[in-house]
Amino acid sequence: MFAYGAQYYRPPNPPSKVWSKDFEQMSQLGFNTVKLWAMWNYTHPSKDEFDFSELDELVALGEKKNFNVVISLILENAPHWLSQEHPEARYESQDGVKVDLQARPNTPGGGWPGLCLNHKIVREHAERYMEALASRYAGNETVTSFDTWDEAFFEPNHYYPDKRFCYCEACSRDFRRWLRKRYHDLETLNENWEQRYTDWEQVAPPRYHGGYPRFLDWQRFRLENHQRWMKWRAETLRGASPDVTLRSHGIAGNLGGLVQNYNDDWESASTVEEWGTSSFPHWMDYPEIAEKIEDRIAAHQITLDVARGAAQGRRFWQTELEGGPVRSGNAGAPRGLTCGPFPDPGEMEIWNWNAIMSGAKGVLYWQYRPEMLGLESPGFGLVRRNGEMTDRTRVAERFAKLTTENPELESSKPVEGDIAIGLLPEAANFNYVAEGNTHQFSGTVQGIYKTLWAADYQIDFAKPHQFENYGTVYLPYPLLLEDETVREIKSFVKRGGTLITGGTPAVHKSNGRVFKEAPGAGLGRIVGASLLTSRPGGSESLELGKGKIAGKVRRDILECHEASMMGSWSDGGIGAVRNSYEKGETIVLGTLVGISCGEDQTNRSKNTFLRLLSDRGLVPVVESNRGIAKTRLHRYEEGFILYMTNESKNQKNIGIKLRKDLGNFKDSIGDVTYLESENMADADIVVDIDGRSGGALIFG
Ligand SMILES: [Zn+2]
Repeated sequence: MFAYGAQYYRPPNPPSKVWSKDFEQMSQLGFNTVKLWAMWNYTHPSKDEFDFSELDELVALGEKKNFNVVISLILENAPHWLSQEHPEARYESQDGVKVDLQARPNTPGGGWPGLCLNHKIVREHAERYMEALASRYAGNETVTSFDTWDEAFFEPNHYYPDKRFCYCEACSRDFRRWLRKRYHDLETLNENWEQRYTDWEQVAPPRYHGGYPRFLDWQRFRLENHQRWMKWRAETLRGASPDVTLRSHGIAGNLGGLVQNYNDDWESASTVEEWGTSSFPHWMDYPEIAEKIEDRIAAHQITLDVARGAAQGRRFWQTELEGGPVRSGNAGAPRGLTCGPFPDPGEMEIWNWNAIMSGAKGVLYWQYRPEMLGLESPGFGLVRRNGEMTDRTRVAERFAKLTTENPELESSKPVEGDIAIGLLPEAANFNYVAEGNTHQFSGTVQGIYKTLWAADYQIDFAKPHQFENYGTVYLPYPLLLEDETVREIKSFVKRGGTLITGGTPAVHKSNGRVFKEAPGAGLGRIVGASLLTSRPGGSESLELGKGKIAGKVRRDILECHEASMMGSWSDGGIGAVRNSYEKGETIVLGTLVGISCGEDQTNRSKNTFLRLLSDRGLVPVVESNRGIAKTRLHRYEEGFILYMTNESKNQKNIGIKLRKDLGNFKDSIGDVTYLESENMADADIVVDIDGRSGGALIFG
């Protein structure tokens, strides 16, 4: 079943007197799923007392309406009595500040950010809480899944942008333990860090940016530590409720945020049965809202494409979708009275189609009622404060019914992408360790994505173990590669894959040291060239055939060995090389091409990059001749489904070129009509599609 519904309960809201009426209305709208937060602070009032009475009442209401209830486990708040007993367990910033439990925008009921889960006693209490929660609803047919980690990321870093966490005793101890496991003895640690420690107790987490090896290992430790917490949550819930589905959802941290929020979506998704993502298209640039609708739509689509890649074949949901105007802020910049725009119903239609065409099998709004307390109030509601419906509610109603009435939408799966963008956590981490932010990494990933997206490519995101599923992988920001990545790259190219990199790969060793000869780690033979030097970006361009790509951030000057030159810098020196290696090939473009494309006002860099792909026969499987319809091709049991959206305000006739035989047209869903008797130059089919809407053509 396609899950459709909303987040409903995050104590202290909504008040209990409106629950019954709201559940009735959600049922009439066609919703089949509601999500409820189980807040540790709220439901564990004293050491041996649990109070699930509000959740019980809501689950009973859900049962009456035949809803599937998702319970989100929220440990990003802790009981105040526990903090009082163990003040040392409070999260500690790099400058020694212990964070007292408090309210924040997403935790109006207080207790945020919880206590450090590396603290043994905190973990024991949290475990008892999880067991009490899971066993209470074990076997309950209404509670069909637990959201093991609702937005699986480390919140303290996110909320205090000028601080980093956690530097408490327990975290320092666990960091040393992790290092002992990685290096076994101090000599090996010294060798890898190029330091002269004489005792393990001298080894501490890095509090400021400085040397590379220790900070890189700290980042690796925090990512692994987060996964340890994720697995512990999943195992505890599963232990107490073996039959429940475990899900979780992220915030697309692999686009760069993971250096601070420590969640690798791929790893977290591997721990649960179903995955998901949050997307707030008006939040991406909040409060400086992206002016152009296509920017907001691309920003939405990218989070879904990351979620699909991370899910690695699992079902995934649009677990949180903006239901009303955004309000929020952080500790440094609270923006409680700054209201984001009200989502336009037409745009919400596209968000729904975006979710469906990306392959999501559920859409839950954040949230049904507007928040009523704190910095998020009165934001996000799908309905008004008094519970009355809005034009946004009507969009939700339409899609709740549409997804129920068309089972093909639930069974179809996106075909493999025309191209995969390799997303490497180590690339983001290295950017962060070296520069204090991930602007270069994120800029180049997003620039490539948007360029391919605007040109109709079906894009997947992949980690190295998934490269083998694709013919071509684009690797942005490959300056530092983990050993495992290098192994996967070698085997991908050997077996016939095409690897294109933006910048020379493996310029740095995994501890951050510069390789004397780059690419290092044995990749020199695969790319058939070496790096002579790298100049700063500027006004010079990489001349590639008849086109030019602006040199951004770094301009690598290469020397060919087995490789042949593809392009040179306008001020001299080889800037792009191509090499055949065993059954595959590599192309190194000596700059951060994604940034060249992202900052490209003239389209020259974009067109040059796209021509490089099309010259190699890599063209989109589906292409819209006006670039207006965004499409995604799916397979289902009986053939193909072609999904599309029209982001413009006007109804359009659009010609579509198909590079795959989709079989006979059977039917359409939504606001798209197949015009069988229409012809258009260079198009295989012509469709009529309403403005700000979408739909699907079914073939079989
Ligand atoms: Zn800690």
